[in-house]
Amino acid sequence: MLTKTLFMDDSYLKECNAVVVSVKDQKNIVLDQTIFYPKGGGQPCDTGKIIKDNETYNVVYVGKFSGEISHEVDRAGLKEGDKVHCVLNWARRYKLMRSHTAAHLFASLLCVGTGALVTGNQLEEDYIRFDFNFENFDKEILAQYVAEANELSNKDIPVNWFELPKQEAMKIPGIIKMAEALPPDIPALRIVEIVGVDRQADGGTHVHSLREVGKIELLKAESKGKNNKRVYFKIT
Ligand SMILES: [Zn+2]
Repeated sequence: MLTKTLFMDDSYLKECNAVVVSVKDQKNIVLDQTIFYPKGGGQPCDTGKIIKDNETYNVVYVGKFSGEISHEVDRAGLKEGDKVHCVLNWARRYKLMRSHTAAHLFASLLCVGTGALVTGNQLEEDYIRFDFNFENFDKEILAQYVAEANELSNKDIPVNWFELPKQEAMKIPGIIKMAEALPPDIPALRIVEIVGVDRQADGGTHVHSLREVGKIELLKAESKGKNNKRVYFKIT
């Protein structure tokens, strides 16, 4: 990849300088480094602004194409070699960070407690959606795990991320419980750890402490079949 992914090391970076590496179809921009998270792993992309001199280009979508992170801006004008300044829509990103950590917390408690597996998950700005392979479906059971999650998210429990060699990482039970696709031939996995609660292979952005998650609220639960249950949450 051409781009240095600054958000992987520091998910709290709100601004950065960068150089335009390439421009495709006038509006799709690859940078030498970026704070913008590209859509993937159940986490929506960031939005924000790329500023060149006094000109502002709104970043409307960020995705990975042919292995490169491409920023789609709302108008033409940026050129290869341009020195730019990037600014995140931080309110959106921070909500997604809180949601992503909340998702790991809840999934871990439910999966460890019931043996269920997560078969799908999608974060949105306003809610978190989960699909579980879970036969014994009961609102009281769900409420119990939400209460447990909220008890933990009252505490200042640290959330860390680090790399582990793939072979070593795969020995950790439940390390890939979120059904998030992993690239097949990578030597190391990025592990997100809620200390004492969960370790998960993950490429997303997270908060530093469970206390930042806030309160998790169950919105809706529905059965999509014998083994497929769908649950919606939000954080407040
Ligand atoms: Zn995740």
